[in-house]
Amino acid sequence: MSQKYRIRAVKFDGAAVYLGLSPSGNPMWTRNPMRVMEHFASCWQAVFNGMRAYREEWEFKDGVKVGSHPLGSHTDQPMASTVGQMRERMPWLASCPTLLLHSAIRHENIDWYAGLKRKKKLGGPVPGLRRRNRCEPMFMMFARNGKDIAVRYRVVNRRSGCVEFNGMTPKDQRKPGDKAHWRIRIFIRLSEPVREFTKIIVHPSRNTIVFVNPVIARHGIPDQRDTIGADRGCKVTMALSDGRMLKIPQPSKRERRRLVHLQRRMSRMDLQNKANGMRSVRDSRRREKLRAEKNRLETHIRNRKHDWIEQQTTSLVLTSNRIALEALDVKRMTRRAKPKPDPNHPGQYLHNGRKAKSGLNQSILSNNWGEIRQRLTQKASLYDTIVKEVNPAYTSQTCSQCHYKDRNNRKSQALFHCLNCGYTDNADHNAGANIRDEAFNTPDEGSRRGGIHRTQPGRMSPPSPEEPMKRRSQATSNGPKTR
Ligand SMILES: [Zn+2]
Repeated sequence: MSQKYRIRAVKFDGAAVYLGLSPSGNPMWTRNPMRVMEHFASCWQAVFNGMRAYREEWEFKDGVKVGSHPLGSHTDQPMASTVGQMRERMPWLASCPTLLLHSAIRHENIDWYAGLKRKKKLGGPVPGLRRRNRCEPMFMMFARNGKDIAVRYRVVNRRSGCVEFNGMTPKDQRKPGDKAHWRIRIFIRLSEPVREFTKIIVHPSRNTIVFVNPVIARHGIPDQRDTIGADRGCKVTMALSDGRMLKIPQPSKRERRRLVHLQRRMSRMDLQNKANGMRSVRDSRRREKLRAEKNRLETHIRNRKHDWIEQQTTSLVLTSNRIALEALDVKRMTRRAKPKPDPNHPGQYLHNGRKAKSGLNQSILSNNWGEIRQRLTQKASLYDTIVKEVNPAYTSQTCSQCHYKDRNNRKSQALFHCLNCGYTDNADHNAGANIRDEAFNTPDEGSRRGGIHRTQPGRMSPPSPEEPMKRRSQATSNGPKTR
């Protein structure tokens, strides 16, 4: 899905953007915002075509492949495949942000394979170059999240928003006496609020900007939807309060063995290569092969997990209007074990359970809790689903039926047995129900047992005068340890 907006105004400030050499050999610069946008569009197209030109078209004779030729005409020199190499070959790309150029490379790759797929299905030619007379000038930028946000969007007021990004002109291409950095602001007319986006596409000639939203189909929301609590764990990735146990696909035994094998061989090779006096690990072609295989295998495992997460989260937000999760600080939970200095022998250390902790960390990370949460919240806004996070303290020790809280309620990792009412359940499932009740304050209306209702809503343990105080203080001091 995407959202298209009209560009109201473009403002440019800071250093002038380098446009390359004029036909007479003089350097050109500009501060004209529209000219800058057009220049970026040409840069984007040049990089796109620079990559596309080396793609090969197969030649067939009587249905048999007889050969192939590159799509472009000037492919006698080696391909410039990185932004750095592109800049070297085309110095007029200097002022253009790396991310913009990089997005051209990325888009070319996506476009190529999508085109081939289309060709297979519907027929037609192989996807070609972007030609000036055929294709509208445009540029696109992938909006990365995390530390390096390249494209910033903000709401200016009720009617307008602003997309902003910046860059710099390198020293050699800078106008004498000019600054290095520039900033461009694209003001848009807000017809509706901008949703979360994965990339922007700017069409300078059409005066529009498109925000591409994460792909989610919105049709087919059922009328009756549930309230669900999910307990994220290590053994079971998500234990739902309705009894479902969702497990993320982990690598098979064979895949794990192969990964370990490849890693070992690579590190052994590194030692050997070092002993043989090779300058760097890149020198060995055999190592490159191993690395490629390892990357392929890892990508395969990762993709399988991503796919699972996408499917499960979509079905969850589709079938439930309220989802409760525990608020987990995955980053904090998966910290390395702290070294424990030995008080009797300075400079030495005591056993700190590092191996066990790193094993637990791996187990937590391999369940992709953070990603599940992220995708759930992202999709929820589109399906009118509420995702609420609750404090995970005591969710695994409290009985979901009578709300009696005791550490000994949990018999083992898997089994929950209430010491008060005798209710027995899978421990994760019980925790899921607790999380749901804590978040949305709905007692279990299931037919499993009737009659017992909590005396005071919103509280998880039997009421006692000092309970609220105690719980609050413990909740703040206790982190993930409570589980
Ligand atoms: Zn109970």
